[in-house]
Amino acid sequence: MVEPINAFLMAQSQFDHVAGLLNLDPQVAEMLRWPNREFKFMIPVRMDDGTQRVFFGYRVQHSDVRGPAKGGIRFHPAETLDTVRALAMWMTWKTAVADIPLGGGKGGVPVDPATLTLSEKERLCRGWVDQMWRNIGPRQDVPAPDVGTTPQMMGWMMDEYSKLVGQYTPGVITGKPVGGGGSLGRTEATGYGVIYTVREAMKHLKMDPTQSVAAIQGFGNVSQYAAIGFTQLLGGKVVCVSYWDREDRAAYTISHKDGVDPLFLQSITDIYGTIDKDKAHEAGYSIEDGGEWIAKDADVLIPGALEGQVNAETVKRVSERVRLVAEGANGPTTPEADEAFKKNGVFVIPDFLCNAGGVTVSYFESVQNDMNYYWTREEVLERLDTKITQAFNSVVEMAEREQVFMRDAAYMVAIDRVVKAMELRGWL
Ligand code: NAD
Repeated sequence: MVEPINAFLMAQSQFDHVAGLLNLDPQVAEMLRWPNREFKFMIPVRMDDGTQRVFFGYRVQHSDVRGPAKGGIRFHPAETLDTVRALAMWMTWKTAVADIPLGGGKGGVPVDPATLTLSEKERLCRGWVDQMWRNIGPRQDVPAPDVGTTPQMMGWMMDEYSKLVGQYTPGVITGKPVGGGGSLGRTEATGYGVIYTVREAMKHLKMDPTQSVAAIQGFGNVSQYAAIGFTQLLGGKVVCVSYWDREDRAAYTISHKDGVDPLFLQSITDIYGTIDKDKAHEAGYSIEDGGEWIAKDADVLIPGALEGQVNAETVKRVSERVRLVAEGANGPTTPEADEAFKKNGVFVIPDFLCNAGGVTVSYFESVQNDMNYYWTREEVLERLDTKITQAFNSVVEMAEREQVFMRDAAYMVAIDRVVKAMELRGWL
């Protein structure tokens, strides 16, 4: 049996590689290879049938040198402390590359939320906060939603924290519902952020967006707004999107010879990102196997569904026409596929730069909470564009100066900023 990859060992080895490129002092590197703080705690929850069930919660604060730790809380059956550690470290690099004054953290509970009733979920969320409230807060650590958690859950967690500290504290958590302390523009933030990086990469590569074709994997939060952005903001054509059909337990690629209409497809997609393929078929769309998206005749690939989708096998099917890969999902490209892209001169926008739009608007949400004054959607998106464009440009400059690929350059920019903050605070 193949041993599953330990995400934390992978995160550490990526860090070690870039620490080597940067000639980082080994003593400094040692401080960044490990989380600052880790919490593991029991959450007893009264179930609806009157029994008591024990859950375990995690929170890892990898770094708070640039600002309060920041990162989501996952409710997923396969959650482990090592996954949470890896995700917390990656958040440190994501907030640093986006240059928002936050650190990196992540939390989780090994549980399948679909097996809980609404009131059991609420008690689990409140229980998580009851255990962690002394160690989170707007100036300490600000959680957010992630896999298996929702804006409503963030609302309950914020309420529990506010009760415990005795004052309304919306800035303790982001990703709250609009009207309950959330920010306008958060829904489209990650997908639009992906498109802002694509726009900048096209300028850099001298590609004309209006003559470009994109193939997109996934049609959830990230990919829907990436598809809308690619067509509406850039004037390009999206040849296909793909999705996982929960009923058929199979993935499909949905394409249209004239390009898909993302708004139409969005109108026939459920909250889990499953498209009604019968309605799509009636409207003249072609339905193919889920793996076909990667082989389309396109200039841009946007893997926006899951990790490991562009791998040693699937990369062989990528069209020679592809010049740009924008990693909307986290970790969609395996190291083997990455090597193939390097060899073929394909420009890759690495995940923690490409999908940093979500955490950037989460940061804007806490800023608005602090001010108790809320921006319009246009203001949020304009500020997001500025931040993402600056982040992209600083990574391209590093890549050119050091003659490295974009992924290494993004790590170098991020680690440089974190080390600089450590120096300025007198930690080194
Ligand atoms: P989501 O659950 O809203 O959507 C996932 C989509 O992928 C769905 O359309 C689903 O049908 C599809 N999918 C699942 N398996 C598939 C398969 N085998 N083939 C094709 N499609 C498949 O998730 P999301 O929020 O859009 O997140 C997508 C990725 O982006 C994840 O890696 C996530 O960690 C990352 N990400 C999300 C955000 C955010 O703000 N939502 C921010 C940063 C990174």
